[in-house]
Amino acid sequence: MKITAAVLRHMGAAQPYAQSRPLKLETLDLATPGRGEVLVRIAAAGLCHSDFSVINGDRPRPLPMALGHEAAGIVEALGEGVTGLGVGDHVVLVFMPSCGACDYCRAGRPALCEPGAAANGAGTLLGGSMRLSGAGGPVHHHLGCSAFATHAVVSECSLVRVDQDLPLDEAALFGCAVLTGVGAAVNTAAIQPGQSVAVIGLGGVGLAALLGARAAGAARLVAVDLSPDKLALAAELGATDCLNARDADALAAFIKTTGGVDVALEMAGAIPALELAFNLTRRGGTTVTAGLPPPAAALPLPIARLVAEERTLKGSYIGGCVPRRDVPRFIAWYRAGRLPVDRLLSARLRPDELNAGFDRLAAGAAVRQIVHF
Ligand code: ZN
Ligand code: ZN
Repeated sequence: MKITAAVLRHMGAAQPYAQSRPLKLETLDLATPGRGEVLVRIAAAGLCHSDFSVINGDRPRPLPMALGHEAAGIVEALGEGVTGLGVGDHVVLVFMPSCGACDYCRAGRPALCEPGAAANGAGTLLGGSMRLSGAGGPVHHHLGCSAFATHAVVSECSLVRVDQDLPLDEAALFGCAVLTGVGAAVNTAAIQPGQSVAVIGLGGVGLAALLGARAAGAARLVAVDLSPDKLALAAELGATDCLNARDADALAAFIKTTGGVDVALEMAGAIPALELAFNLTRRGGTTVTAGLPPPAAALPLPIARLVAEERTLKGSYIGGCVPRRDVPRFIAWYRAGRLPVDRLLSARLRPDELNAGFDRLAAGAAVRQIVHF
């Protein structure tokens, strides 16, 4: 079938993207779903920093590629052998397919699925297939989703069914921002009631982490960002202390008076943010990093402090989530009012506004923008 999708053919275009237009709306051929695959009509897709990192070349991927990986939609057709889903089901797309059979999947750590990671690195669906093609030949899939599109064929291992009465633009957020942010707080950091928590970097993922920390019972909740607007939003969402990352005096005073926080969550994807998170963590505490800087970024770590102060530094991918367990769990929290992730939705875009949307994301001027094809 013919679909419309946003395709990237060159990385590293000059900004602003509203002028250079690296994402082009193209008519592509989408093949019918193969064995274990599902055709989904995409209802809504979020703009995420991981899309931006491919556009600007920080995280290179095989090109051309149809971008977009945080999405929800409705099942339109099933490939051979798909038994867990039916036509008309509402689904959230998850950006790491989990095969269910590798060592990591069987150990309950599908974020580390080996065939899933191989497929994402190669720009294919799980198992190696490619279902998109354009004028010049095959087009790669982004993280098994390619959701800036009218339709997508994805592995059934990339999908989680959700309740039909959940609005699909809200459901989309659960596939990346909520899994990554809330999961980092409740799975990776395993925040306990009464703990003090800092979140560094208040994009969609960081604010989701803040909501997750609050839902987990954090007593003191410290928000850190460069943007006064995002700090104001964090205060509305329950942050007890809002610190501007440029205000070195305020940060030093906080560390001096409190000794630091039990748990610091770095969600900005930048080494200075991770250094700050480490320094904001008290002795014996845990620093979690989920921000994902460019592959070559490295941190000079004071190992003596790590040892003598019994610190923990942990990476978190997809929030250490088991998507089929955690998407329904986090949606239940949302419905119960414990996780108001709808507050993260800051704008709804038309497909021709995608490039300008990534300019706003790059400038830190948006929380979560959603595109409707
Ligand atoms: Zn994402
Ligand atoms: Zn696996």
